[in-house]
Amino acid sequence: MKIMVGLGSCGVAAGGNKILSVIKEELKNREAEVKVESTGCIGLCYLEPLVNVVEGDKIYIYGKVTPEMVSEIIDKHVIGKTPVEEYVVSSSDHPASVLQKQVRIALRNCGIINPENIDDYIGRGGYEGIKKAVTSMSQKEVIEEIKASGLRGRGGAGFPTWFKWNATREAPGSPKYVVCNADEGDPGAFMDRSILEGDPHSLLEGMMIAGYAIGAQEGIIYVRAEYPLAIKRLEIAIEQAEARGLLGENLFGSDFNFTIRIKQGAGAFVCGEETALIASLEGERGMPRLKPPFPAQSGYWGKPTNINNVETYANVPWILQHGGAAFARYGTEKSKGTKVFALAGKIKHGGLVEVPMGLSLREVIFDIGGGIKGDREIKAVQMGGPSGGCIPAHLLDTPVDYESITKTGAIMGSGGMIVMDDSTCMVDMARFFLDFTQKESCGKCTYCRLGTKRMLEILNRITEGKGKEEDLEILESLALRVKEGSLCGLGQTAPNPVLTTLRYFRGEYEAHIREKR
Ligand code: SF4
Repeated sequence: MKIMVGLGSCGVAAGGNKILSVIKEELKNREAEVKVESTGCIGLCYLEPLVNVVEGDKIYIYGKVTPEMVSEIIDKHVIGKTPVEEYVVSSSDHPASVLQKQVRIALRNCGIINPENIDDYIGRGGYEGIKKAVTSMSQKEVIEEIKASGLRGRGGAGFPTWFKWNATREAPGSPKYVVCNADEGDPGAFMDRSILEGDPHSLLEGMMIAGYAIGAQEGIIYVRAEYPLAIKRLEIAIEQAEARGLLGENLFGSDFNFTIRIKQGAGAFVCGEETALIASLEGERGMPRLKPPFPAQSGYWGKPTNINNVETYANVPWILQHGGAAFARYGTEKSKGTKVFALAGKIKHGGLVEVPMGLSLREVIFDIGGGIKGDREIKAVQMGGPSGGCIPAHLLDTPVDYESITKTGAIMGSGGMIVMDDSTCMVDMARFFLDFTQKESCGKCTYCRLGTKRMLEILNRITEGKGKEEDLEILESLALRVKEGSLCGLGQTAPNPVLTTLRYFRGEYEAHIREKR
């Protein structure tokens, strides 16, 4: 038996460290020799602090654990071998409703293993994917396997992963690089952070497999400095993998060499755009540049570079182990596999979920997310972060896949899902997101730099009760011009919250203008 305390950022914020020390103290008082470890976030953030009692392959998860509950759990369960049913929020036999409809591939180890112990990862099949690739597959075969899986980039754009890998492999130039975009910056999004904190080796292994497939020897993780716990766990994971000979030279007795290092970013939202990220990696100011050439042709220091985000790489070892077809069994015709979402806002079960593509928004929000806090009416859901769009309640049966979400005017984005109830002012909401993107504009192109500023002025005017009749027309036409005239994804998508709320909630804008102070 062992005890594991959820110490992802959510667990720490909810007092997990205090619970950990109380558990150690109580065990010491009873002279009970039980292993106590930390684990990452299993996604039940709304129930933190969480404590897992692990008996062989059975796991009992206790939620909202207080110091007072600890002695009872130890006496009755750890020593008495009888779970304290009233505190158990999920178990292997009776998983919480939040976990029931999930298919956990990218999150397969989060909240289950100790992220600071490589043996936990290896014990669950870790590093088998890279071993298989290096010892029994050609570069082309690895790329074919990824193609068969249908995996598309989980960072937002949804570009086929195999295509990028193949383009980088075939591009002339050497050395080649594998870069991980861990610059997750959307307000309300924490998918990548949770994987980094809860299962860092899955990222390392995914990058190694990409490195082998494209012919690279070096991987770089670009991670925001605001993720100190993620960085610490990544550093530990890299050190442990190196010590085991899983990173370095002649891996698995082959001539494949691979190293990984971390580069901390300073938190500019625009550095999530791949050309800005590369500029930042090279020590320049993080500003996007025109594409083509794409990073696959000319990336880091002008060399062929493959960039994917954390979630994309975390899926890769599983695909190599189980086969591309196993991954493609989930999802829809064009959007295969699963997607991780961060549920936030006015939702009962706020946290992290991984669902097969094609599930409806309603199923994600109500069946998994438990519905709306205070049992109020749902009004809309913001998908894709500040550059995403707002999907109204009457479209909740929309399947969650790249194509269907795009049809609503929103974007899948990296997986932020902010739920709004009937008390939310949609104009305020659009103003909040535009304020964010406006401040994060790098200023390189006029439409984005000035267009978003003018749009924000109009929105401020409207929300302050000083709006004019003609404002909506100007706002809409400006939004379309910013979308069309901007160089990078930030400017091209910044107007989305405004455009979707104008499309679905125009009446609220008109009411603000009518009800002038
Ligand atoms: Fe910079 Fe905005 Fe232009 Fe992108 S669209 S390059 S963020 S000014």
